Amino acid sequence: MRKNTSRNVYVIGGGIAGLSSACFLSKAGFQVTLIEKNSQLGGRATTLTQNGFVFDKGPSWYWMPDIIEKFFNHFDKTTNDFYNLKRLAPSYQLIFEDKITIAPSANLDELKQQFEELEAGSSKKLEQFLAQAKMKYDLGMNDFVYKPGLSIKEYGHFDLLRKASRLNIIGSHAKHIRQFFSHPVILKMLEFPILFLGGSSDSIPALYSMMNYADMVLGTWYPMGGMHQLIKAQEQIARSLGVNIHTNESVTHITVSNKKATHIHTNRAIYPLDILVGSADYHHIEQELLGSEHRKYDTRYWSKRKMAPSALIFYIGINTTLANLLHHNLFFDADFLKHNQSIYQSKQWPEDPLFYLCCPSKTDDSIAPPNCENLFILIPVACDLQDKQDMEEYYFKKIVQRIQQHTGTDISKHLVYKAIYGPNDFIKDYNSFQGNAYGLANTLKQTAFGKPSIVNKKVQNMFYAGQLTVPGPGIPPTIISGEIIANHITKIYT
Ligand SMILES: Cc1cc2nc3c(=O)[nH]c(=O)nc-3n(C[C@H](O)[C@H](O)[C@H](O)COP(=O)(O)OP(=O)(O)OC[C@H]3O[C@@H](n4cnc5c(N)ncnc54)[C@H](O)[C@@H]3O)c2cc1C
Repeated sequence: MRKNTSRNVYVIGGGIAGLSSACFLSKAGFQVTLIEKNSQLGGRATTLTQNGFVFDKGPSWYWMPDIIEKFFNHFDKTTNDFYNLKRLAPSYQLIFEDKITIAPSANLDELKQQFEELEAGSSKKLEQFLAQAKMKYDLGMNDFVYKPGLSIKEYGHFDLLRKASRLNIIGSHAKHIRQFFSHPVILKMLEFPILFLGGSSDSIPALYSMMNYADMVLGTWYPMGGMHQLIKAQEQIARSLGVNIHTNESVTHITVSNKKATHIHTNRAIYPLDILVGSADYHHIEQELLGSEHRKYDTRYWSKRKMAPSALIFYIGINTTLANLLHHNLFFDADFLKHNQSIYQSKQWPEDPLFYLCCPSKTDDSIAPPNCENLFILIPVACDLQDKQDMEEYYFKKIVQRIQQHTGTDISKHLVYKAIYGPNDFIKDYNSFQGNAYGLANTLKQTAFGKPSIVNKKVQNMFYAGQLTVPGPGIPPTIISGEIIANHITKIYT
């Protein structure tokens, strides 16, 4: 492998962004060492293996396969070199009260038909809506998203402004979709992908209708073997490029001298360095590893950030199969507004939550024993909540009941394995700020140069990657985050 610099780079954190940074930096010729506190790589995208069940602990929606493909192509690989990607059809189902369900088709003509059945004239409007959403996707994912976000000027060039002014980008997503549709089921279908962005549809800019394009046109995919196949692929590429990987090692302090990071201290050693990339939670690196005089942001800044939700998750293995479930199931059979308010306004545990149930064993035999189901159940909750003593049983009973209503099976009678994971676990495992699962909410003020910066002028050889900086949370953006930081460092140092 060509090494065009003798400079060494330490990357803190072996999540998707850290692995991506390490791959790109190593390809650019730096000597890269990645330090990960946990025993597994992947960060929020690690796995839990118990009683023959392999649970993906975090991400389960594989969207924007083009971005992930691009990552592999940078290293002269394709997705097929690592895993078999399957498109899910239908993409998912939404389950409403009164046993109403809708499973959006992966076929666009069929999807239009589904829209038309709900609201007369909406199939034509869907075409127009998706044509605009495609333009936003092309603009967002080919242009906006690769910007380092260091200045507003990056977004001010004529062509970009011209394209942006033709599209509704800045108004709210909620308002935008209501200009096209009015049926409540259609609105929920279009609002659900926004939940990934950590806000309600009225607080997220209409730019993100590109997520509807990603959902309805580009599709929902699944890597056979589980989402962690992506992490294995990233690790394989990193190792093949010569990245030195240390697991079970925690960075505890960064020494700075003359505005330069000179060493990182871990629970095992002290390493001298030339360049540092912090890809663990931004807040942890800045506020807990750097001395106060070297921080770009203060506690007031952090207390004003609007966070995307945390999550309460159940990993459940059962010794029976369930009827009426798809791979992805959104139980919207409770009050959407009330649940949303509990996350963003009152910041309380929701009384009657919506939840998401992923049943990947519907697609993949390798992640559960025969005639069993692998269930991942996620309730989005506010950040910074204290774990409630009786929470586990309270929510477990509720979801068991709702799953029984829909599938006819009482899963509590078939349990082989059950584990619960809450906001405090995110703090313990990933040093997550306020126990966040998905980083910062993608509100207008926290988009692009409104996010915590990839650079810190007080520590000139230190850079940031990961879901709390540009471009934001999610698998595709955190992969891109690694590319952005590697390009930025390469520009400065080579
Ligand atoms: C429950 C859940 C569901 C999700 N679902 C989806 C989905 O379906 N689709 C999607 O696209 N995205 C999804 N996401 C978002 C996506 O998983 C994340 O945006 C992405 O994985 C974040 O990657 P990262 O590298 O920025 O951070 P992390 O994954 O947090 O990686 C940071 C790493 O740094 C390590 N670290 C922390 N402190 C230290 C230290 N002091 N020393 C050394 N190492 C340290 C951590 O252990 C961790 O491994 C989901 C996230 C969660 C939590």
